[in-house]
Amino acid sequence: MTKLKDVHTEHCCIDHGCKYGNENCTVTTGKIQQSYSCMDCEEELKLESNNELLKLIQQHTELLADSVARRRETSAGNKALHTKMLELLSDEDWEGVEGMLRDSWYQKPLDGVICCLNPSDMDVKVKFYNTWSGYEN
Ligand SMILES: [Zn+2]
Ligand SMILES: [Zn+2]
Repeated sequence: MTKLKDVHTEHCCIDHGCKYGNENCTVTTGKIQQSYSCMDCEEELKLESNNELLKLIQQHTELLADSVARRRETSAGNKALHTKMLELLSDEDWEGVEGMLRDSWYQKPLDGVICCLNPSDMDVKVKFYNTWSGYEN
């Protein structure tokens, strides 16, 4: 593939198609490599790391709930969000928990929750941390 740029390389995606519905799209026909991941690609990436984080939470539900509860004690503005998260965790409502992971209002509070995890095995915290920072980027 040649390294050139045109309107397609800036907007289209080999997986998600031509933004302009052009069947001669230089990207979808494989003539030129796209310059960026498209918005759908990024959305998928986010979902993937989101799922990783959810898996960790499913494995360590009590650990996370414990940290959420401690954050709730000291939180000024996010008590309601933490309460909701605790309820979802104790109900094992994973769809609800996933919704919280995606909730832009819960990003900062969740950051604090992950910082305050207190596992007996520090590797667990590192795993959470890496997955979470992967999700943010
Ligand atoms: Zn195109
Ligand atoms: Zn794409």
